[in-house]
Amino acid sequence: MKKNFFILFLINFDSNMFKIKYSKILVLGSGPSGLTSSLYIIRSNINLIIVTGNNIGGQLNNTNIVENWPSIKSIKGSELMKNFYLQILYFNAEVYNDEINYLNLLNKPLMSVGFLNFYYFNFLIISTGCKYKIFNYKNQFKYIGKNISSCAVCDSNFYKNKNILIIGNGDSCFENIFYLIKIIKNILLICRNKIFKTNYNIIKKIFLIMNDKIKFKMNSFLLEFVGDDYLLFYVKIKNFFNFNLNIYFLEGLFLFIGNIPNSNKFFGQLKINKNFILNKKKFLYNYTLTSINQIFSIGDVQDFLYKQAVTSSASGCFSYFDLINSYKKYFNV
Ligand SMILES: Cc1cc2nc3c(=O)[nH]c(=O)nc-3n(C[C@H](O)[C@H](O)[C@H](O)COP(=O)(O)OP(=O)(O)OC[C@H]3O[C@@H](n4cnc5c(N)ncnc54)[C@H](O)[C@@H]3O)c2cc1C
Repeated sequence: MKKNFFILFLINFDSNMFKIKYSKILVLGSGPSGLTSSLYIIRSNINLIIVTGNNIGGQLNNTNIVENWPSIKSIKGSELMKNFYLQILYFNAEVYNDEINYLNLLNKPLMSVGFLNFYYFNFLIISTGCKYKIFNYKNQFKYIGKNISSCAVCDSNFYKNKNILIIGNGDSCFENIFYLIKIIKNILLICRNKIFKTNYNIIKKIFLIMNDKIKFKMNSFLLEFVGDDYLLFYVKIKNFFNFNLNIYFLEGLFLFIGNIPNSNKFFGQLKINKNFILNKKKFLYNYTLTSINQIFSIGDVQDFLYKQAVTSSASGCFSYFDLINSYKKYFNV
């Protein structure tokens, strides 16, 4: 890592392209959590720098319609995030559309390196979010946010009384099934394994209560997505053992194969558990504080449970209060 950083430094130095930016507070990420935190900070008249990452607005850009943002009946995910972003610009935030590659959080001064600039700062708010694990199949990406989803709570309403296919196994997959089963017509669940990777009680419940609605295909793997320019029509599934090929038509597909927090840049520096940044999680102003003083983490990158826009946004608000408490002590203001 150190070697890479040195090379990056030399490239930037030689080409005279990089600039040094200093701010008391740096916010990494521009999803609901980062932009909420930034809003609170900038409205208290404290300057900060926001580094947006290459996905300005975050994961909600990947969804078509959001119907659970309080007070708005229905809005495009990208439109909602554009409103967040415009509000930040309205308060004259210093924003860079840059992506951070390297951070030094163990020694002072705290520093990070992007593609455009070097950033020095005293306080850091990490809101780099999460990405759902997805397959890497041809055609897959054009259907994500259309009729491929990874969030039952977010998208099940669009599939009322429809036939859907689910790929997954494990606890979160079955939790999502419980949510979906009340809304959709029929589910076909495709599992790679020969057994379910969740607890016995959940399986029993599914068989007892929902047996008529759900069918399973075990030992099966996905071969291909087929659709037109807008919607996915069917998938080709193969059996591991007999290699039988089946085609399943569907109205929606849910992928519950896990998700990964964007925390790899912090490995070896912050305390991390199963890729989620570990916060102190105690009230009295350190709910969002990480294992290093002056560094806070919010939103999906530290949340293994809720992972919603509204909960991310709320954690952004928490971080303001946590940060401001140590900020006042640090700068003696
Ligand atoms: C398809 C889909 C549909 C969804 N629908 C809903 C819904 O209807 N309702 C709901 O409440 N929730 C929904 N969610 C969940 C919701 O989008 C997330 O919970 C929320 O966006 C998390 O916000 P966040 O700020 O933590 O992170 P994110 O939104 O993931 O934003 C992360 C930000 O960090 C930036 N970043 C990442 N790495 C770096 C780096 N190295 N340097 C700088 N910046 C970086 C990215 O560019 C991005 O701006 C949905 C999610 C998906 C994927």
